[in-house]
Amino acid sequence: MAVTGPAAGLATAFARIGQLASLRPVHEAFGWLHLHEQQIMAWQQELVMVAAPPFGEGPRAEWLCGKFRELELDDVGLDGIGNAVGVYRGEESGGACVLLSAHIDTVFPADTPIEPQLNGTRLTAPGACDNGAGVAALLAVAAALGHAGIRPACDLVFVGNVGEEGEGNLRGMRHFYQHAPLRDRVAAHVVLDGAGHEVAVTHALGSRRYLVTIAGPGGHSWTDAGRANPVVVLSRAIAGLGDLNLSTKPRTTLNVGTIEGGTSVNAIPEQVTARFDARSTDAEQLIRLEVEIHRAVEDAVIEANEGVKREHALRFSIEMIGDRPAGALAEHSIIFENLRAVDRHLGIRSETRIASTDANIPLSLGVPALSLGAGGDGGGIHTRNEWYDARGRELGLRRILLLLLACCS
Ligand SMILES: [Zn+2]
Repeated sequence: MAVTGPAAGLATAFARIGQLASLRPVHEAFGWLHLHEQQIMAWQQELVMVAAPPFGEGPRAEWLCGKFRELELDDVGLDGIGNAVGVYRGEESGGACVLLSAHIDTVFPADTPIEPQLNGTRLTAPGACDNGAGVAALLAVAAALGHAGIRPACDLVFVGNVGEEGEGNLRGMRHFYQHAPLRDRVAAHVVLDGAGHEVAVTHALGSRRYLVTIAGPGGHSWTDAGRANPVVVLSRAIAGLGDLNLSTKPRTTLNVGTIEGGTSVNAIPEQVTARFDARSTDAEQLIRLEVEIHRAVEDAVIEANEGVKREHALRFSIEMIGDRPAGALAEHSIIFENLRAVDRHLGIRSETRIASTDANIPLSLGVPALSLGAGGDGGGIHTRNEWYDARGRELGLRRILLLLLACCS
């Protein structure tokens, strides 16, 4: 009897990986990775020295384009928002493609001192791991494929993208999926972020952030007493939101992170602002929360303005200051089955996670995507003592290379 369904998918994927891994060029690519850890670390050290603060990634993107050209990728260049892009041609060039991306931006301001320290296998520098490891892996994979002369079935597109961290709000990936000429050709997308080889982010944690402002005429605490106080009105709205019953499955959270406003203890404030952070694995819950925030603020302001002269009325605004869409990789998508088969082949016990990464964008659009570590180990992420240790990197890179080729075939 023929086996169909998920088990058959995994069996097919496992057979595919076994066959791929037995090919001589794949062995040669693995051999290159084994012998060139020093080269990979040299690239990593070089790239962390090119500062890439939020909205200032240009020099690092140029540096990466230079490396892509040295590795003889095709169509190398910056796209409209500053992502570095290069294509490794497959046999059927111009059709479906597989994307490998790593964000190039860091959280560190432009004036952060960068003095990388390399001790044995360990590199200490701001951004050494997040995402020095991911960007170095892009280069390592491209170099290993090229050295081995591998012609994958489809084009592999390498992207060093801007705008992953914080206020960057995934703008690099968002731009790619809105404007890149090959955006409709992406059959699978592998994101590399940080170190490790045992975790796969397959669920995109969605988040929306809002800046809420309530403003009015303000006034003197004694002579103008009775006028609506924006701090009091916003507090009422926040108290109401605090009483909301949020969904636990899918897990949904709402945080008020900051409140600012007022000028003096004896003045009715002219303005108050608060920042909200809503998160959920489910896009609908985020929309629901947005409606609740609007309702709570609007109701509180309308109530405060009842019977109040127009020139003394309060006004409010709600501005979205961050939007990371939610999404999830289907259990039986080919990329997921390929990853399970690759991990089984390499003896890796992997686990899946929910996180907010560049993969949020393709996942929210229904493009099969996941985010992996680039091998090795790391810590002190987002601090100036951030470190990366290359021990075990080779296994992580083999995992990425096999997965890419499997998704292509
Ligand atoms: Zn990162």
